[in-house]
Amino acid sequence: MKVIDLTPRGYCHGVKNALAIVKKVVKDQSYPRPIYVLGQIVHNEKITKAFETFGVISLDQKDKTRLEMIEEIQEGTVIFTAHGISNQVISRAKEKGLTFLNATCRDVLKVHKAVKEKLLSGYQIIYIGHQDHPEPEAILAISPDIIFITNEKDALLCHIDNQKPIFVTNQTTLSIYDIESILSILRTKYPDLIFDDDICDATKVRQQAVMDQEKVDLMLVVGDPMSSNSNKLASVGTKSKGVTSYLIQGVEDIQIEWLKPIDSVSVTSGASTPTVVTEEVISYLKQFSKNDLKTWDHSSKISLSDIL
Ligand code: SF4
Repeated sequence: MKVIDLTPRGYCHGVKNALAIVKKVVKDQSYPRPIYVLGQIVHNEKITKAFETFGVISLDQKDKTRLEMIEEIQEGTVIFTAHGISNQVISRAKEKGLTFLNATCRDVLKVHKAVKEKLLSGYQIIYIGHQDHPEPEAILAISPDIIFITNEKDALLCHIDNQKPIFVTNQTTLSIYDIESILSILRTKYPDLIFDDDICDATKVRQQAVMDQEKVDLMLVVGDPMSSNSNKLASVGTKSKGVTSYLIQGVEDIQIEWLKPIDSVSVTSGASTPTVVTEEVISYLKQFSKNDLKTWDHSSKISLSDIL
């Protein structure tokens, strides 16, 4: 099988920083126990499970906000994830006397700063992002006046009758395809709006590598279904190259039926995917032969201790 290893792929600086913070707390016994992460430190279940083996408790309840989840923590150390955290949650951690560390990525902090500055300057803020994702949750907590847009329908229904200038920004891990269509609707309604493209560089360069790739029969994106940037890589593959793209968590998710009719496959991975997981996928595909049953076994040999 011809395998194209797309680069760059894998861990970004924000993920590396977040993982380093959790590892530091695990190692340093002076941090009060238990150790909690409010959400998943980065969106990858394998990483969450690997940290669990060191006693790290990830509180991740889909129907609860960070502000609700922190009420469940009575003692110990709490780590806020790379996706950002609201001032309200930080205040609550202080009130509860918890030790806390903030792993918010600097690219996410940049958006928080821009939104706060524009609010102070009298702008109406429109924020484009995903429903039920922690990054918008923290941004929207900055002010109830921020208008949240998740799709074209929201943009069409958006109605602003104040006379304020309009500032539009976005979640860091979207794709240009998500933003283009929404922005075009908004620009038609509000031609004077100011748009600040805040897709982070790590997301952009990984998406660009997908857009620039040579023609292949299939693309596999190694990443977690919860990972926004991983999902976007798959959709960029389909939209830009028309290539069938599947999101897989690891080699175990590969379906032999995908591989039998094809001769070439490209592989990339989300910014929160452990390198060892992607490398196992690439090695498997390289040795795969549709005519040799012995090359078909795609069970993973990686253990949780290999992940971190
Ligand atoms: S994907 Fe971008 S915003 Fe998210 S952690 Fe990585 S660098 Fe930061």
